[in-house]
Amino acid sequence: MTAAAGVALFLVYCGMLRGAEAAPKGIPAPAPAGERHMRERTLGQITLVYSAESEPLAEQILPYAAKCSQHREKLFRPPAPIPQKAFWLAKADWRGKPATYGFPYASGKDAYLAAADVDMPTQLALIADAMDIEKGGADVERIAARLGLPKGSTPADVHRRLKESKEFFVVLTAWYILPHELTHGYCNALRHPAQPRWFYEGLAQWAAYCVQQELRSPDEADLIYEYYQLLWTRGAPHLRVTDFAKADRLGAAGLDTPNYAWYHGGLLRLFHDLEEMKGERLLPDLVRRVGDRCGGRSTVSDQEMIRVFSEVMGRDLGPWFAERWGLGRVSDVRP
Ligand SMILES: [Zn+2]
Repeated sequence: MTAAAGVALFLVYCGMLRGAEAAPKGIPAPAPAGERHMRERTLGQITLVYSAESEPLAEQILPYAAKCSQHREKLFRPPAPIPQKAFWLAKADWRGKPATYGFPYASGKDAYLAAADVDMPTQLALIADAMDIEKGGADVERIAARLGLPKGSTPADVHRRLKESKEFFVVLTAWYILPHELTHGYCNALRHPAQPRWFYEGLAQWAAYCVQQELRSPDEADLIYEYYQLLWTRGAPHLRVTDFAKADRLGAAGLDTPNYAWYHGGLLRLFHDLEEMKGERLLPDLVRRVGDRCGGRSTVSDQEMIRVFSEVMGRDLGPWFAERWGLGRVSDVRP
């Protein structure tokens, strides 16, 4: 190859890299030339890849992620161990457009998260603006208490904490969203259905809640639960999508961060209510039943998934899903 041809090829290659970086969020781009040196440590089935600035937090994240992995093994009982990578990335190392920084995602088995201890996860910081916090009220006071804000704190203090606090975003990203994304990774590896979306996202939401409750603390898990519920119950005036079934159809590609977070708030409520109805842990039975009925299929219909849920609950959930969530065939229950 001549030098000129080499340069031309190199330029084409760089163009491809730029093209890849412009790909939709969720698709990791190849590392750009001159990538900063990343650190890597493995414990059990988890390899944590992280930016050097996160060394102190990595000491905590790695054992947590490894314990979460044992949690998934108990739940999913995979035929062989599933090794996973968790990428904890500062802004300079983010594999996507800089504007997507903070929007967490799973790709294959692996999870990609913003290093909230280093840089503000800009996408997640947008969520607080959609919560109508300035209106105040009992739920704002409740979350103020859970955040440990002093008595007499104003709604503006709550808003600031949920938008600007590094401490809060570490709790949200490392201890909640990390197990959420790694649960997706497990479902992807085991070929559990990714559709319906409400099942795929709801399972990850509830699994993350249970893990945080067990491995961190019930109070911390409830802080995140209440955070999502504040958006779910209060966010309507600032949201583009307020119809759950429509949000479900639009999915990740059609929703911006606050709308997508609102949808996730609804899913936490949906799974919470089902577990309350069941009177015991929902996921062990549910995961086993979904594996039996739907394993190896990327898509199942709403109706079929609702049947699986009904089997797990021992009652017909068709009307509940249709009336409360707009999922399944509404016409079946409202002639
Ligand atoms: Zn998700």
